[in-house]
This record gives sequence, C-alpha cells and structure tokens, in this order.
Amino acid sequence: MKQILEPARHIDVIHETEVLVVGSGPGGLSAALAAARAGAEVTLVERFGCFGGSITTVGVEGMHWYRHEQTVESMGIPKEFEDAAKEAGAAVPESQSLSYEIDSEGFKLVADHMVEKAGIHPMLHRAFVAPIMDGNEIKGIITESKAGREAILAKVVIDATGDADIAHRAGVSCQMAPREDLMAASVMFHLAGVDKKTFMEGVKADPQTYADWGGGGEWNIETSGKEDEMFSPFLHKPFAQAIKAGLIPPHLNTIAGTWGAVHDSGEMTYMNLVHLAGIDGTDPDSLTAGEIEGRKQAMLAIEALKHFMPGCENARLRNFGMSLGIRDTRKVDTLYSMSEMDVREQGRFEDSIGIFPEFIDGYGILILPTTGRYFEVPYRNLLPQGVKNLLVSGRATAGHKVAHAATRNMACCAVIGQGAGVAAALSVQQGRALDGLNITDIQAELIRQGARVH
Ligand SMILES: Cc1cc2nc3c(=O)[nH]c(=O)nc-3n(C[C@H](O)[C@H](O)[C@H](O)COP(=O)(O)OP(=O)(O)OC[C@H]3O[C@@H](n4cnc5c(N)ncnc54)[C@H](O)[C@@H]3O)c2cc1C
Repeated sequence: MKQILEPARHIDVIHETEVLVVGSGPGGLSAALAAARAGAEVTLVERFGCFGGSITTVGVEGMHWYRHEQTVESMGIPKEFEDAAKEAGAAVPESQSLSYEIDSEGFKLVADHMVEKAGIHPMLHRAFVAPIMDGNEIKGIITESKAGREAILAKVVIDATGDADIAHRAGVSCQMAPREDLMAASVMFHLAGVDKKTFMEGVKADPQTYADWGGGGEWNIETSGKEDEMFSPFLHKPFAQAIKAGLIPPHLNTIAGTWGAVHDSGEMTYMNLVHLAGIDGTDPDSLTAGEIEGRKQAMLAIEALKHFMPGCENARLRNFGMSLGIRDTRKVDTLYSMSEMDVREQGRFEDSIGIFPEFIDGYGILILPTTGRYFEVPYRNLLPQGVKNLLVSGRATAGHKVAHAATRNMACCAVIGQGAGVAAALSVQQGRALDGLNITDIQAELIRQGARVH
C-alpha cells in the first residue's frame, strides 16, 4: 500500500489525572464513578458528545431484562443505573422481566448528573488515538479532536473503549473472531406514531415466546428449556409475511427481533430488528457499509410493521441510534480468560470483583437467570498481559465466545467497571502496582460501595 511519513511533533499536555477512563459505556462510566467514590481524581474521556456508550449512542435500553423473581443481582453500580434512571423519569417498566427499561435519551442526562456529582473531570468529543508508553508502562494517552492532538497523563488508565483500542495499540495481544463468526451488528431505531392500545392487543392475541426465536434467520437458539414457554417481545411474523408479499427480499430473513417499550405518546423504542453479519467494528469501511445497509433494512422492517403489525399502520421512523451497534470485536489477553464453564456452571474465584446472574445471550444461546444461579468475575480478568498501569473494562475483557455472550451484557460490563475503578483508585492511593494489590482491599471497598463480590 502507498504510504506517507507523518512528521514527529510536540503535543501539549493539556491535563494530568490519577485515574483516566477512556470510553463511557456501562464499563467506563461505572469505572469512573467507582474510582471517584474510592477517593481518586478521575477523568473520563469519550469520543462522542454524551456518556453512556451503547445505551445512549446505539439506543440499547434493556439493561436488566434478564431479571426474574429468583434472580440474584450484582447490586452496586449496574443497579444504580436503573434506579437513577427510574428516579429521573428516564425508565419505564420492561415488558418481559421485573426490571425497568432505560430511556436512551434520558440516560444522557442521568449520566451527566452522576459524573458531575462524583466530581469526575468530563472530556467529551476527544477520541483516543495513541498510548503514551515508557517501556511497558502506560503513562497516558494522545487524543484527537477539533483541537488537534493533545496529551493527557495519568497514573492508571482504564481501557473502556469496548474495542480494546488502548490495549491493542499499547501492544497487548488481543483475540478477535474471524469476521464471519462475529456476533451480528445492528442499526437500532425508535418509532413514532404507534397506536399503543392496538399494538398491545395484537401482542396479547398472539403472544410470542423465547422458543419462537427459533423461527429462522439467525434466530435459531439453544435454551435451557425453562425459557421456552416464557413471553418474549419478539417480532418475526410481520417480516415473514412481508417476504411472502414481496415487500422484503427473501435473503433478508434475518430481519426479526425484539421491540422495547411502547409509550402512551405512540413512541416505540429499542427496535432490535436488523442483524448484519460480517461487520468488523474495528474497520471504518466495514462500519460505513453496515450503517448504510442497516438503515436500508430498518426502513424495510418499518414498512413490514406498517402492513402486518396491528397498531403500526401509521408508524414512522423517529430516529436511528447515532451509531451502528457493535457487539463483538477484540478481546484483550488478560491474566485470566473467562471460560464457557465459568458462565454456565457458576464459576467461583477468590479474587472475585463482582457477581453476575447466569444470563447468556448470544452465539445462538439464550439462558435466563430464573433460578438464582450466578457466576463471579475474577480481578485477573481485568489485568492485561504485559503492560503496567492499564486495566480493561467492559466487553473487551478476555473470554471464550460463550463467556462473552454473558459478560458483554451491560450490567456485567458495569460490574467489571466498578471493579476496575476501585482497583485503579487503590493502586494510586497505596502506590502499588495493579497486579500487587491486596484483593481483600478491593473487595472491601466494593462492598462499601454496595456491590456484591461473592
Ligand atoms: C444492538 C445491540 C443490542 C444489545 N442489546 C443488549 C441488551 O439488550 N442488553 C444488554 O445487557 N446488552 C446488550 N448489548 C450489549 C451491550 O450493549 C454492550 O456489550 C455493552 O454496552 C458494552 O459496554 P462497554 O462499556 O464495554 O462498551 P460500549 O457501551 O460500546 O462503550 C464504549 C464507549 O467507548 C467510546 N469509545 C470507543 N472508542 C473510543 C476511542 N478511541 N476514544 C474515545 N472513546 C471511545 C464509545 O464511544 C463508547 O461510548 C447490545 C449491543 C448491541 C450493539
């Protein structure tokens, strides 16, 4: 490939901090909050104009849709996200569970408030582009923005970019499935103009279950059996009818999925209906193709709903998520990689930084935590191999693909984030390396913050 030489240059150090969190999704926002509450000076860098990651930028609103009567919860910050959204009027009861669906727009304000209240230094509209390294120690990052390139120095950096941008560029080895095996990407969208009463009557007249997910396309799934008869806000029939009627081309039998909340105002949010295979979230050309194709498919889905779903006759697009939703990219080689057995068989660890209910969703598996089973996440899962002063949070922590189908869930990403934030703060306060911390200190602070560690 043709190349140019980028000239070396001096970059202003615009900011110094104790703990620097990059990326503000469930994994980053929780890390920043936990570190600040543990007494550290914290800075939160985000490439977009709001905090919340996939919640606010993609429109993923179902954070606790796995919760049933016997579910044992993680507590701590993931629960707090739901409670704060509820309190702010930015959440509505969720249709299939004992939880609240978080309003993706309202959560922007909830997150602002949490960041301000915790005294976190906010830095939106700056994208991480390069790590500042001294041998195998990370000393900060370089960002790119309207202000050009700028440097931020930190004692500890938490990579919460979802795609492991920092760990990858710092030279930590990462694993990524081949394109064709990655979880599908989705353009999410919200509707206006839905007649709630008629829609809900239609849903009740023909209730769908999790077993109905096996209706074709990418929706063939393994359950543990107990999920099969349970209600699911699943939509497949209108799209099958639209294919028959020639409104949707037959090869798009992947259009199907779940609806989120229907509001009295006629809005229907969190429409998770478009699934694009083969999209590489670390390749901007692939992302470009996914955005454009995804929007086309979303409009076909809306056309199908207008024709074949009661209450949707006058539905129209309200908005797309501001970014294509990516579920699966790089996983950092950390000191411990979560195994399939860990998430299926209640993994237990002495160095646990949090628990997560037995909820597996992805790679053709759906298991709901209806029986009180849960697994623990070890601190070693957050420690990248070979680079000092760096922690990984969120969906980029190491794991087998089935483990990813559990740990990628937003509430688990927030559990991991809370652990990362506390460890980062303690490392700064105690002047100890991240891999030399006493796990009982981390656990004691997590418990003080309301999280459950065992
Ligand atoms: C369509 C879709 C539907 C989903 N449905 C559900 C669901 O129902 N329930 C559930 O629990 N989970 C669901 N998930 C999974 C879940 O949303 C993600 O796994 C989770 O949000 C990951 O959290 P995170 O903090 O690791 O990353 P993200 O939420 O992706 O946040 C990463 C943040 O880092 C920022 N960032 C990235 N790169 C840079 C950079 N270079 N510089 C600065 N900032 C950067 C991003 O802008 C973003 O704000 C879904 C995911 C998708 C895509």
